[in-house]
Amino acid sequence: MAVYAELICVGNELLTGKVVNTNASWLAEKATGLGVEVRRIEVVGDDLGEISDAIRLALGRKPSFIITTGGLGPTYDDMTLAGVARAIGVELEVNEKALEMVRRKYESMSLELTPARIKMANLPKGGTAIANPAGTAPGCLVEFAGTKIVSLPGVPSEMQAIFAQSVAPMLEAAAGGMVFKEASIVLQGIPESALAPILDEVRKRNLPAYFKSHPKMSEGVPLIEVHVSAKEASGDKAERIVRKGVLDLKEAAILHGAKILGER
Ligand code: ATP
Repeated sequence: MAVYAELICVGNELLTGKVVNTNASWLAEKATGLGVEVRRIEVVGDDLGEISDAIRLALGRKPSFIITTGGLGPTYDDMTLAGVARAIGVELEVNEKALEMVRRKYESMSLELTPARIKMANLPKGGTAIANPAGTAPGCLVEFAGTKIVSLPGVPSEMQAIFAQSVAPMLEAAAGGMVFKEASIVLQGIPESALAPILDEVRKRNLPAYFKSHPKMSEGVPLIEVHVSAKEASGDKAERIVRKGVLDLKEAAILHGAKILGER
């Protein structure tokens, strides 16, 4: 069965364009690198109905992981876990482990537990608290019908710290040793429309490598960066497939008058 993830980023600030959704791109890159394909990224506002609907619909597609970001804090509009609870039909309840984590954080700052701080220890019934090494709100893991729902805070440094410590190992284990490798080359002097048939021909010769072209501008000069990637059970095999794809594409592009500006 394919192991894949969906990301749901929560926050009105993402919908108004005030904050760029760097959490999504960061998580997508990490998950892909760990061998877990990301099939969908969604943004919803701080609205209980929107959050629970997004999670319910995602659960219906049966991904291995749903990762949410944002909305775990102490304020009234932080309601991601209420949305998770509603989507799976359980109540929120104070989780003793989460409460202990929150208590210890505030103790270390000589601050007492208030209702707003206790709110961060409210998890969907049956959920597991995930330690937050960089902030106060714990993350949360809930398993439902074969899907792991992982909820992380919105602050990028906290989200990244929890991911590195607790979520990356889960993804890696689920990927079952599949390794993702990628390389890219930058071409100049060939329009994307002329590259299209060349790319298609090279792609067919290099299955199962994946080729994706990205047109760009650099100091007024049009360039095309082509990413070549593969996901295989061994890193060596993935690397060989990628290197062969890059080599074939370079040869074909040069033959059609393109210049290779860079490779990595
Ligand atoms: P907190 O405990 O700080 O309240 P939280 O989990 O409730 O964290 P949010 O309140 O949703 O998170 O977001 C906190 C901050 O993190 C936002 O003000 C924003 O700057 C940043 N942030 C939230 N979501 C994203 C995102 N998807 N990409 C980048 N930054 C984000």
